[in-house]
Amino acid sequence: MADIIQLLPDHVANQIAAGEVVQRPASVVKELLENAIDAGADTIKLIIKDAGKILVQVIDNGKGMSTTDARLSFERHATSKIRNAEDLFQLHTKGFRGEALASIAAIAHVELKTKQEHDDIGHVIVIEGSKVASQEVVVTPTGTSVSVKNLFFNIPARRNFLKSDTVELRHVIDEFHRVALAHPNISFAMYNNGSESFNLPISNYRQRIVNIFGNKTNEKLVPVEEDTEVLKVSGFVGKPEFAKKTRGEQYFFVNNRFIKSAYLNHAIASAFEGLLKNGTHASYFLNLTVDPQTIDINIHPTKTEIKFDDEHTLYALLRSAVKHSLGQFNIAPVLDFERDPNLDTPYSYKGDASNTPKVEIDRSFNPFQEETHSRAKAVSYKKEATENWEGLYVGLESKGNTSEQDFEEVHFESEECTASIFDDNQVEQKNTTYQLHNKYIVNTIKSGMLVIDQHRAHQRILYEDFLKNITIKKAASQQLLFPLQLHFSKQDIEIINQLKDDLEHTGFVFSDVKEESSVAITGVPVSVPESEVSIILEQLISDVENEVPDSNFSATDLLAKSMAKSLAIKTGQSLQKDEQEHLVNKLFACKEPNVSPTNRTTFITMSVDELDKKFI
Ligand code: ADP
Ligand code: MG
Repeated sequence: MADIIQLLPDHVANQIAAGEVVQRPASVVKELLENAIDAGADTIKLIIKDAGKILVQVIDNGKGMSTTDARLSFERHATSKIRNAEDLFQLHTKGFRGEALASIAAIAHVELKTKQEHDDIGHVIVIEGSKVASQEVVVTPTGTSVSVKNLFFNIPARRNFLKSDTVELRHVIDEFHRVALAHPNISFAMYNNGSESFNLPISNYRQRIVNIFGNKTNEKLVPVEEDTEVLKVSGFVGKPEFAKKTRGEQYFFVNNRFIKSAYLNHAIASAFEGLLKNGTHASYFLNLTVDPQTIDINIHPTKTEIKFDDEHTLYALLRSAVKHSLGQFNIAPVLDFERDPNLDTPYSYKGDASNTPKVEIDRSFNPFQEETHSRAKAVSYKKEATENWEGLYVGLESKGNTSEQDFEEVHFESEECTASIFDDNQVEQKNTTYQLHNKYIVNTIKSGMLVIDQHRAHQRILYEDFLKNITIKKAASQQLLFPLQLHFSKQDIEIINQLKDDLEHTGFVFSDVKEESSVAITGVPVSVPESEVSIILEQLISDVENEVPDSNFSATDLLAKSMAKSLAIKTGQSLQKDEQEHLVNKLFACKEPNVSPTNRTTFITMSVDELDKKFI
């Protein structure tokens, strides 16, 4: 048989490589910004059109390229940054694969203008889908400008796969933040569709963070500084009281390169142990400097993952450094900096958030009521019953899955129910509800019983309420005595602006949305406590960022979902009888009572027949 193996032509190989390197406009932004930094620029400008789908341009004042280099830079594996494999372990540059420009040129229209300082005149090269369209001389300032137009013009499937402009722009801004935060000694500007989004002068690290995230950030930052033989840490963590519901502001840089590391993130979380409200995440902006020989960045083409030789030590040092700072700045009461770092290696249980013991109060309890009597009686009945059950249970342990502990819990939690079961006067009463494990509402119905997930059910109720209010535009609003002034980053304000109309229809009243960084709220929906407003808006912003609302309709839907999620009664919340009944009634008045807004089951029923079967 004839030979069938062929070498792929370069442009095909480049397109394949592009799939790895370029997923979206933000990937182009990252590669171009990093090249500009590697070229030693101290002023870098990023220009974006239509979230980068039409244009991503990066202009730098770095060292530029010679004619030959300019041409060569588009070849695959063409790099000036490493010469042999050993260099991989001595990396001081961002790039090293020599893949980015070749990949980008395979899937877009690229124009490169570049001039070196000692030359009078520069060069411009136009490349479209890996083919050089033109190469000429041009008058241009020292440095390099790379324009990438019409990304994925020759791969329609990839182009269609791109998300809405809002989402793609969000990714672009994220990349821009990461690079700008890693290099406060370089001035960055970003322009989006002709208007300036960021202008970040050369500054110290604190100022850079403040310039990006808004003036209010300044008071949140606690400096972290630690210098050991293996690791140098510098940067800031956010004070615990400013912790966010979302993981937005968490940045690790290793040797000035943004990385993601769940392991190191855990080190920070454990340093904050006991200081954060449940469900919130600390902010951090930390630069780690380690010997380049002790890390391997070569594991992923997009290079946000990294391998450390000695992760355990880094974990311990980082945790101690953060704890030390929190202690020093009087934020954490205990300081255990002297502790042997080896003791600090994480065990799985360390990640578990601490549980505050919950005190439950029966608000309806009145010692002078008749009920006292029956309650006391019930308790004694119950004891008896338990003993009997335990008698039955002996010897059966190995058969059932139910552990003894489960049994105990059931008795404890359903005490009130036991009371009513054994109270002769109430035996006849129909349609009673009770709460199980502060999670489910159990209700008797004609055919048997109904078990409702309180959190999901309430989400459904609120969701339909919000949707209705938004559509009929007549929600009630409660006026605040003092306007609530909330601070957000510039992009977050942009999102609030987009959702402003819908938010107002739910009952919010905004007196002022400043472009800069703050929102003044003078009215809130009646169902929303003032203290929850910032959490709700924060959750909403993060949902919008993550969920891609493509149309107006889906933005409204998302808003209703997000607010319902934030405001719904939580699992673990104890409810009074009338609250339980109200919830059941409201749920069944909904259009789609059987699923939550995210399509999860809200209730199940169990018929007496089914129960009977279980007792065979
Ligand atoms: P890498 O950055 O991995 O080396 P790239 O494909 O991103 O690979 O770039 C190829 C080469 O082109 C670089 O090694 C560098 O020599 C040159 N280059 C790219 N961008 C610039 C720039 N903005 N200024 C100067 N040289 C550049
Ligand atoms: Mg590069």
